[in-house]
Amino acid sequence: MQHEDLRDLYIDQLKDLYSAENQLIKALPKMAKAASNEGLKSAFETHLEETREHAQRIEQIMKDMGESPKGKKCKAMEGLVEEGKEALEEFEDPEVLDAALIAASQRVEHYEIAGYGCVRTYANILGEEKAAKLLQQTLDEEGKTDKLLTGLAESSINLEAAQGQA
Ligand code: FE
Ligand code: FE
Repeated sequence: MQHEDLRDLYIDQLKDLYSAENQLIKALPKMAKAASNEGLKSAFETHLEETREHAQRIEQIMKDMGESPKGKKCKAMEGLVEEGKEALEEFEDPEVLDAALIAASQRVEHYEIAGYGCVRTYANILGEEKAAKLLQQTLDEEGKTDKLLTGLAESSINLEAAQGQA
């Protein structure tokens, strides 16, 4: 497909985000399972539910435009998920592993925040008001999750991870 205008870019970016969300739907249960801290475990579980809705919102937006959400692989998310997996293999201490899971997942959230900020803005420019609202909802949930992870890290998990240090 020849990409020509902002609408094409918008659709392309939505496909990328759709792929990213679907990769996360597979990765988040593994991260929840690997987490020891109960707050972190439940943060991953809650965000898994939200992530399913994020994917559904993109499906809805694309359906409304008569487009398919499929057809693109988000290579950046593939890399971020791969790095998360490396953390699982490299860190055995449960507290340090929790800190590593937070570091990996905050990279993911920031990637999503950047992506959704862009498509939300495109939706506004293109006059796609309903889509802009849905994308803003997702953006808000990504931001809320990022802050929750910061809170968990700073209030307890990083401190517990530091206890094993000499
Ligand atoms: Fe998401
Ligand atoms: Fe997210």
